[in-house]
Amino acid sequence: MGVIVQKYGGTSVGSIEKIKAVAERVIEGHRQGHKMVVVLSAMAGQTDGLIDLAHKISPEPDLRELDVLMATGEQVSVALFAMAVKSMGYNACSLLGFQVPIHTDALYGKARIQDVDTARIMRELDQGRIVTVAGFQGLDSDGNITTLGRGGSDTTAVALAAALGAEVCEIFTDVDGVYTTDPNICPKARKLDKISYEEMLEMASLGAKVLEIRAVEFAKKFNVPIHVRSTFNREKGTMVVPETKDMEKIVVSGITYNKNEARITIKKVPDRPGIAAQIFEPVFRSGIVVDMIVQNTSEDEITDLTFTVPKPDFHRTLKLVKEVARDIGAEAVLGDEDIAKVSIIGVGMRTHAGVAQQMFKALAKENINIMMISTSEIKISCVIEEKYTELAVRTLHEAFGLDREAEPES
Ligand code: ADP
Ligand code: ASP
Ligand code: MG
Repeated sequence: MGVIVQKYGGTSVGSIEKIKAVAERVIEGHRQGHKMVVVLSAMAGQTDGLIDLAHKISPEPDLRELDVLMATGEQVSVALFAMAVKSMGYNACSLLGFQVPIHTDALYGKARIQDVDTARIMRELDQGRIVTVAGFQGLDSDGNITTLGRGGSDTTAVALAAALGAEVCEIFTDVDGVYTTDPNICPKARKLDKISYEEMLEMASLGAKVLEIRAVEFAKKFNVPIHVRSTFNREKGTMVVPETKDMEKIVVSGITYNKNEARITIKKVPDRPGIAAQIFEPVFRSGIVVDMIVQNTSEDEITDLTFTVPKPDFHRTLKLVKEVARDIGAEAVLGDEDIAKVSIIGVGMRTHAGVAQQMFKALAKENINIMMISTSEIKISCVIEEKYTELAVRTLHEAFGLDREAEPES
């Protein structure tokens, strides 16, 4: 039998009892003859706790050392898990990112996996061991420890599954699978049996944190089937798979929200060639990722420019943009952190018309003002006031017929 890669998230390994339960479940797979590779996250809350510690030293901790610190969270969980497996009479071996090694680039805090060396893992598996690998971490070409960005253990798991030619990459989490929207804010959300890589990619990038975006990118590129399922029951979850013809029949498959962006507006910008390049140059140089950009039609060669950035980068961006605004003679720079982006996603949008109109009407009915709009082939996003996020998600969920039927009274 082949290799199975399983990844358990922070809540799934959040206590000693849970780690023991995961060990029992993994041993089952091992007893059935599978070669088991288990990627673990840090125990719930640990990574946040480590980041808080770093901020007690400095508001902007050194990024190399922050990665060394954050990587310890996963070191704890793999060690405890391997101990648990061994205490149950089976053989196990924990490996940190640098021991595999998982090679990455040198971008601390958001490193990208470049290559996975499978020799050590295969050697351990061939000796009948259950191998557990610390998620979220790697090694750069100078021998430094790197981390992959929040939620990065998903990416470790899929990268390992691709490199090992695993039968499947199972992502065990605290929900039963991928839902039509976040089940924690919309009780009528429905579990999907399957979803295409394309839709999952959009959902992940637009805020559904159930899978990390780079994990989906990897899976799509290397054709790794992902099974998202619950740690706490045996139900079948959601398969993330290549698109099939029947998927286009469904116009909207999912709805997401993202409260983690902020909006910046530059008022009265001179409208001439080179201005946009001048404004965004320092922002891009600082590694800040700009999401939506809207420029109004110009009047008397003066225009307003609005864009969004991740909230953690808001103050830094504001400072940079205020400097450029002064240089180019713009009137003012305004910032707004109380926004949210709600999006509808579906491969069916390619073949159905009028979807945007349906979205705008549904939001209008609830008196929700749309501040910005962006579209791509399979998604439409609207920026709204943050306080309306939950209402907007539930309204769109109903408007696009995604609501779960009420359970019959028994
Ligand atoms: P883990 O710690 O296991 O990696 P995460 O917290 O990163 O788990 O991801 C699981 C969470 O993702 C769920 O608890 C749920 O609140 C959230 N989520 C957001 N959108 C969705 C969705 N469409 N389907 C399922 N879960 C979602
Ligand atoms: N522990 C890391 C985080 O909390 C990585 C992960 O859980 O996937 O972001
Ligand atoms: Mg996660």
